[in-house]
Amino acid sequence: MSSTTHPASPPPTPREPAHLLERRFWELVETSSGCWTWRGTRTRRGYGVLRVDHHYRYAHRVAWELSNGPLPRGRYVLHTCGNPTCVRPAHLHTGARANEGEANGMRRHPDRVPRGERNGRAVLTATIALEIRQAYAEGARSLRALASAYGISHETVRQVVNGQTWRHLRAG
Ligand SMILES: [Zn+2]
Repeated sequence: MSSTTHPASPPPTPREPAHLLERRFWELVETSSGCWTWRGTRTRRGYGVLRVDHHYRYAHRVAWELSNGPLPRGRYVLHTCGNPTCVRPAHLHTGARANEGEANGMRRHPDRVPRGERNGRAVLTATIALEIRQAYAEGARSLRALASAYGISHETVRQVVNGQTWRHLRAG
């Protein structure tokens, strides 16, 4: 999926073949005439996540990439349906930044996410740390905006962005 792999520094393990990832992915999706629901791990905000090549990735992004190819750098996959758990490719589109409507939707449904999931907290934290770091690196949002969007302190965002916490994470 990545076009940036340098020949001198191959990934530590082979990438998962696309057809295996595709099969594993769709086994965790419940389809319907409306939204297609992710049945795997979710973040507290309701976004599906799964491990791909040792990194956690958003399920809706993987769904979009399985249908459309690699997501261009700096683009976000957004929901037209406003349902963070949805991975139906027809309900996904890309934009230059996370859109306000989607953020508003998340605030209206704070209890959408199941609780007590095994390892849920660790997955959530790592996923959000990565998301924050990427969003900041891409210049999409300020520290203040990120703190507000994720409901965490300005100082926590600053530490994540500076690599003082979650130093071990890499973007997937
Ligand atoms: Zn949907």
